[in-house]
Amino acid sequence: MVIAALFFATPLSAALLSPLAPQPDWSTLQRYSGSITAAEFERLLRQVYVPDGSWREWINLSPSQALITPHTGAAPVVLPLATQGTRPRAPVRFWKTREERSPQPGRPLVGLRIAIDPGHLGGSYAQMEARWFRIGNSRPVAEGEMTLIVAKLLKQRLEAMGAEVWMTRTKNGPTTSLRPGNFKKAAIPSLQDEGVALTSERLQHEAERLFYRVGEIRNRAALINTRIRPDLVVCLHFNAEEWGNPARPTLTDQNHFHLLLSGAMSGGELQHEDERLTMLLKLLSGSHREELGASESVARSLAAATGLPPFTYHGSKAISASSNPYLWIRNLLANRLFECPVVYCEPYVMNSRAVFNRIQLGDYTGYRNVGGTQLPSIYREYADAVAQGLADYYSGTSH
Ligand SMILES: [Zn+2]
Repeated sequence: MVIAALFFATPLSAALLSPLAPQPDWSTLQRYSGSITAAEFERLLRQVYVPDGSWREWINLSPSQALITPHTGAAPVVLPLATQGTRPRAPVRFWKTREERSPQPGRPLVGLRIAIDPGHLGGSYAQMEARWFRIGNSRPVAEGEMTLIVAKLLKQRLEAMGAEVWMTRTKNGPTTSLRPGNFKKAAIPSLQDEGVALTSERLQHEAERLFYRVGEIRNRAALINTRIRPDLVVCLHFNAEEWGNPARPTLTDQNHFHLLLSGAMSGGELQHEDERLTMLLKLLSGSHREELGASESVARSLAAATGLPPFTYHGSKAISASSNPYLWIRNLLANRLFECPVVYCEPYVMNSRAVFNRIQLGDYTGYRNVGGTQLPSIYREYADAVAQGLADYYSGTSH
């Protein structure tokens, strides 16, 4: 399930940095000097990263350079562009594209560095992060615990095909050493920006939200960008429809899946200086092409394995990534902050009757009868499909 509350339109009174953002360092853009043409820059802004056109307030493109305003009133940062007739310089980045690798027959992922990010925290934080429900005495459904089961299975499968694999977490709970109490000070301006009254209950709630939604994801991004530095991040989630009271959740017959690519930033989000810079770093690194190729391949294998229909977004927070109905572009903290391609998976509706019944069976090998159909464990079906999609992509058997 994706984290929606971070993406509400930002009120004009908001601070110019998003919550817990470090001061942006605009000199980092220069590593992409001369690596992209103005035409490609504009195409990516229009079609992927800022489809509402609000980038024009901050970025001025001419054939030879981009003038980028770091904040209102500041002198623009000048980024030289590749011009017609000159060969674009290779961007400086820690990850390799599919073309830059040499797969071996039968070991399609040899030399590939993959970070698996099991979404959410689980364990004793599952209820705090509202990724938990239970029906009577049933096995509780906790997204953060389910993603960890898939992550461990996926790691084995990717390693068997030659990949080097890291996990952002190997147990339930946070990766950050900070706790909600450390976010109480930051909770005050965060609530003031939203214009709500400061009660102790609200402050506690906001400190918890900043802990599990923002501080935790920023810590995972630091792990990925500075320590693991992988070629690809795979974010594992399970989706859900609104379930209401977690002790008396609403079950549904809706079941679907989709994958998310980074982009679709709104004018309000772009007001944040740090979001603007991370968007530009993501755009200039060229990660969209890899995200699209790898996600298309994983969507194909997930569709074949699950038979699920695509989820469709309505409204402006997400846009279609391509003619593939499973692929959507959306601005999430987790796909924006990771400075490399991200395959962000949102299969299965946890509170659909069919999925709930499979979750109750836990993980198992082989097949079991589920409502008259022989099915593998939902965790193995998920891990097998993602592994297959990545093998197809990196061995070049998918286009
Ligand atoms: Zn999730």
